[in-house]
Amino acid sequence: MIMQESLWLQQQPLFQNATLQQDISCDVCIIGGGMSGIQTAWKLAKAGIRVVLVEAKPAIGLGITGYSTGKITSQHGAKLYTVPLDKAKIYYNANEVAITSFIEKLPTDLYQEVTSYIYSTTEAGDQKLQQEIACYEQLSIPFFTTKETELPFPVTSAVGISKQYQCDPVAILRYSTQQAVSAGAEIYTNSRATKVYADKIELENGCHVTFQKLFVCTHFPIAAMQKLRVMQLEIYRSYLTASPVLDLMKGQYLSVDDSSRTIRTALYNEKPYLLYGGREHRAGTVSNVQPYYDSLTEELRKHFDISQPAFSWSAQDVQTPTQLPFIEQIADRIFIATGYDKWGLSNSLVASELLLHYATEQPHPAAATFQNIGDFSSWTKALQSVGFIGLSFVEGYLAKPNAPICTHLGCKTTWNKAEDTWDCPCHGSRFSADGQVIEGPAVEPLKLDSSQ
Ligand SMILES: Cc1cc2nc3c(=O)[nH]c(=O)nc-3n(C[C@H](O)[C@H](O)[C@H](O)COP(=O)(O)OP(=O)(O)OC[C@H]3O[C@@H](n4cnc5c(N)ncnc54)[C@H](O)[C@@H]3O)c2cc1C
Repeated sequence: MIMQESLWLQQQPLFQNATLQQDISCDVCIIGGGMSGIQTAWKLAKAGIRVVLVEAKPAIGLGITGYSTGKITSQHGAKLYTVPLDKAKIYYNANEVAITSFIEKLPTDLYQEVTSYIYSTTEAGDQKLQQEIACYEQLSIPFFTTKETELPFPVTSAVGISKQYQCDPVAILRYSTQQAVSAGAEIYTNSRATKVYADKIELENGCHVTFQKLFVCTHFPIAAMQKLRVMQLEIYRSYLTASPVLDLMKGQYLSVDDSSRTIRTALYNEKPYLLYGGREHRAGTVSNVQPYYDSLTEELRKHFDISQPAFSWSAQDVQTPTQLPFIEQIADRIFIATGYDKWGLSNSLVASELLLHYATEQPHPAAATFQNIGDFSSWTKALQSVGFIGLSFVEGYLAKPNAPICTHLGCKTTWNKAEDTWDCPCHGSRFSADGQVIEGPAVEPLKLDSSQ
C-alpha cells in the first residue's frame, strides 16, 4: 500500500509546544514555523533579540519544508540565466555563503555532502543547460560537465557542482528549533495568527502578540496581508515518491527538461530510499491528480524496476514574477520572506540573514536583490496567470457545483479527490474535507453546507 504521506514525517518526535494562552510582547514576532521562521528565530535569539514565533499547526515541520526533497544547494535548476547577471551573481553567492555557514553549525549526521547535477534528456533541455553553463562561466562558478551519471537512463548532458548537501528537512528543523529555544526564542505551536494590526497580531483564540517588528514567514502570505498584491505570486504543485532501494547515490539530480524530474537517495531509519518526483502544475487547477502519481509510478517501473513507491505526496511552492524571492519590508514594521520557487531550504537561510539585518537595522549588501515587490515589470504575466483557469479545474468544478468559497478572496474551491482536499485555484489555499485550513493564504476554515 502507498502511504500518502511525506517520508520525512514518519520520524517522531516532532517539536511540539503549548498554544500561546496569554497576551505577550516581544522585539520580533515571527509567524510561521517552517525553514524560514525557525532559522530566523534561531539567528535572532542568538543575537539577543526577544523573539516570539507562532505556528498554526500542532508541530514544527508540517508545512512545505516537511514535504520537500531535502536538497540544500545553490544549484537551483537552470535559473541563473533567466535573471539579470548582476542579480544572478548576488543570488548565487548569497545562497552559497548562507549554506556554508549553516552546514558548519550542524552536527555531521544531519546532512550528507553530495554533488548536485542538473541534466537534460531532450534538445530543449540541452539548450537551457548550455545557457546556464554560459552563466556559470561568466560568474566563475566552479562546475564540470559529463554524460556519465548514476542514472539508469542516458542523458544528453549533465552539469555538476560539488560540495552541495542533502538532508532530512524535518530532522534539520527539529535540531534548529531546539537550538532556537536554547538561545531564548519562545515558540508556540497550535497558534494560528488570524489578524495583523500595526503593532500586534491576533491569534484565533483571541490572544495578542505585540511586536516592534513582524516577520511573516508563512510560506504564502496569509490573508491578513492582502495589501501585498498576492496576485504577483504564482503557486505550483508537484509530486514526490519514496521507494526502498539497495544503494545510495553519490549525487542528487534535477532535469531541466520541460517536465522536470528531481532524483536523490536518502538513508531514512537506516534504510536507503530513492526519492523521485516532478510533474508540476499550477496549484488548485487540477481536480484529478491521480494521473500525476500514476505517471511517476510508471517511470519508476520503467527506469528503476520499482513496482510501487512506499510513500507518495505532493506539495506546492511560491514563484515570483522576477524568479527571485521576496525578502523585504512590506509595511511599517512588517517584513516578509516568500517566493522561493522550490529552493526554500537554502533561500530560507538567506532570508534568516537578511531578516537579522532588518531586525537590527543594519544594511545588508544582498538586500536589494531580494526586494522585488516594487518591481512591476512582470505585472502583465502575473495578471494573466491569475486569470488562468485550466480545463481540469472546470471539470472538477462541474462535478461539485456547490464547492465552497475560499475564505481568502472568495474564489470557488475545487474538490481534489485523490487527496481529499478542497483546493483554491486562485492563490493555492488548501482545506481538509471538513474545511480546516491545511495551508494559506486563507486563515479561516471553509463554510461547508450539507449540499456538498
Ligand atoms: C515538492 C517540493 C520539493 C521541494 N524540494 C526542495 C529542495 O529539495 N530544496 C529546497 O531548497 N527547497 C525545496 N522545496 C521548497 C521548500 O520546501 C520551500 O520553499 C520551503 O520549505 C519553504 O519554507 P517556509 O518556511 O517558507 O514554508 P513552510 O515550511 O510551509 O512554513 C510555513 C509555516 O507557516 C505556518 N503558517 C501558515 N499560516 C500561518 C498562520 N496564519 N499562523 C501561524 N502559522 C502559519 C504553516 O503552518 C507552516 O508551518 C520544495 C518544494 C516543493 C513543493
